[in-house]
Amino acid sequence: RLDEMPILRVDDLVKRFGGITAIDGASFEVERGTITGLIGPNGAGKSTTFNCITGVHEPSEGSVVFEGTDITSRRTHQIATEGLVRTFQIARELPEMTVLENMMLAPQGQLGESLWRSVAPIARREVVREEEQLRQRAWDTLEFFEIDHLAHDYAGTLSGGQRKLLEMARALLTDPEMMLLDEPMAGVNPSLEKKLLEHVHELQEQGYTFLLVEHDMDVIMNHCEHVIVMHQGQVLAEGPAAEIKSNDEVIEAYLGG
Ligand code: ADP
Ligand code: MG
Repeated sequence: RLDEMPILRVDDLVKRFGGITAIDGASFEVERGTITGLIGPNGAGKSTTFNCITGVHEPSEGSVVFEGTDITSRRTHQIATEGLVRTFQIARELPEMTVLENMMLAPQGQLGESLWRSVAPIARREVVREEEQLRQRAWDTLEFFEIDHLAHDYAGTLSGGQRKLLEMARALLTDPEMMLLDEPMAGVNPSLEKKLLEHVHELQEQGYTFLLVEHDMDVIMNHCEHVIVMHQGQVLAEGPAAEIKSNDEVIEAYLGG
């Protein structure tokens, strides 16, 4: 049954860039409804794994299965349509547009042609209605992340933390089931960090699944039920957070660099 399967399965993933093997046969699963941590030293292959899962890069080998559907090598917007979206280590908002305008762009950017082509043939009145609905959802989502007071500010004027919230808000607007967050807390001040984590937990309670790359071990240990450790492009260990913390190989990988 679909709800008993892992929501995401990565099998023997390999990614080479010329002579560099960034991912070297990584396999793991993510259980539905969890906040799963993906950790590992710099250069371990975490961001590249996200890129391969979400169609930013084409894997050299291996497969990615989301909700029972093989999404290997699909385009990013097709994968978003299936319900899987990511945020980037460096937020990618458009600085010269307002926060609200950035939000209105989200489904176009993520879902690409499919949504807007399907909108094109229908009556103008319908298009206006869809836009109104989107605008309402954009406001609701900004409110949820408590950045609605910034709606008319240029995105370029936001702090690092506010940008991270905007990026999560944009990702959420595409109506995903699962979000991959690449260091969402980097450059975020402690009070915003706490809020961001609270939002992640609230969304988890609503049924969303998260895969989270994060350097802060305390965050991982306190907020993830399951942890996957990557090292040199491979999965070194995985298990409950408490087990991972005391795993000698994991400690060695971090200390050994
Ligand atoms: P992490 O996110 O765990 O720090 P990355 O996935 O960013 O690690 O990088 C893994 C390895 O792949 C590193 O050696 C990095 O230099 C290399 N790499 C990542 N992206 C590219 C790319 N576009 N071209 C060449 N090498 C890359
Ligand atoms: Mg990275």
